[in-house]
Amino acid sequence: MYPEDSIDNWHSGQGLCSATPEVDWSSWSWQLRNKVSTLSQLEEYLDLSESEKEGCQFADKKLSMAITPHFFNLIDFRDSSCPIRRQVIPSKEEKLVGNEELLDPVGEDAHSPVPGIVHRYPDRVLFLITDRCAAYCRYCTRSRMVSNAQDYNFHPELEQGLTYIEENQSVRDVLLSGGDPLLLSDRKLDYLLQRLKKIPHLEFIRIGSRIPVFLPQRITDDLANIFARHGPVWLSIHVNHPKECTLELKQACDKLALAGVPLGNQSVLLRGINDDLETMKSLVHRLLMMRVRPYYLYQCDLITGSSHLRSTISKGVEIIRGLRGHTSGYAIPQLVIDAPGGGGKVPINPEFVTKVTDDEIHLKNFQGKTFKYPLGKEMGTPCSRDSKELFDQILA
Ligand code: SF4
Repeated sequence: MYPEDSIDNWHSGQGLCSATPEVDWSSWSWQLRNKVSTLSQLEEYLDLSESEKEGCQFADKKLSMAITPHFFNLIDFRDSSCPIRRQVIPSKEEKLVGNEELLDPVGEDAHSPVPGIVHRYPDRVLFLITDRCAAYCRYCTRSRMVSNAQDYNFHPELEQGLTYIEENQSVRDVLLSGGDPLLLSDRKLDYLLQRLKKIPHLEFIRIGSRIPVFLPQRITDDLANIFARHGPVWLSIHVNHPKECTLELKQACDKLALAGVPLGNQSVLLRGINDDLETMKSLVHRLLMMRVRPYYLYQCDLITGSSHLRSTISKGVEIIRGLRGHTSGYAIPQLVIDAPGGGGKVPINPEFVTKVTDDEIHLKNFQGKTFKYPLGKEMGTPCSRDSKELFDQILA
């Protein structure tokens, strides 16, 4: 068992800000006003490496540095490679740019018919409604636009985006993202969800947000009521490491779940942060304890300056193999690569099919034992050549 897996040991409370009045600490606007965003603030608490100091000086030209007090409290100040620290504190390695790295690694700009809309799959769109986040992740796929440190000059065009969705009847699913959509005020979110809800061909709304993790104080009763009014709204949160599962996050998830919001989690596989089986197993177990279904485990996109945080595909496959059969099926996320250049998400799976003959498929289970299952002979029908060809392709 991972250390501290018992819920009694999950982080909670004000930590460094214990002298702050509780009413301030619980206010999301106080948390935002008191973000840690300068080198000198960091140096008050942390013994920074030369690489981190250089990274902080460079951050305003690449992706701003900002950390909410809630998330800053999760850093282990004695550990220079703390998994929380490495996600949010810049380092000079961000200046290294590999040949394969891109500013827009998954080709979003090429699929953008109007500002803020990315329309890649026929039946769904991504709607980018802000370029701001509560804190900034050093591996962000949208580093080019988020925080506007690179002068990308992204201005959310809510009305244009809404009109595009209204006019495209093939769109049945919209994903609100950014930046972080939950940074919008209640009034704006209420308006946006109300407009989307009125579009007859839109079946449901998804939101991608790291706010519950960075700023659980944002998940207020009023916000939960807005979701309840305009549902079905599905929410994907973004937790990478078990230490991020705090009691405050759990309370936020409880509130959302009780408001009828189905919750999923998307993690990014990060080198030295969560790319080992024990850490990932602890994370997925904690997620289920918070009513959050692990959804995707992303191979980190080929983002400019991210090679120091990017793990390998083989590590991801090894983790999924270590989970499958060894824990509840609900706990296992789908490993995916968002294909460079705009190919969309491609699932990657460990191989459990070892052989296909004319009559049967040979399967290896989680213990490495082989089992056989007849091919296409259910209900007395002869083996289908089509099935055989299909599985030959799987094995190819
Ligand atoms: S919260 Fe999401 S959009 Fe914001 S910096 Fe992190 S990964 Fe990027």
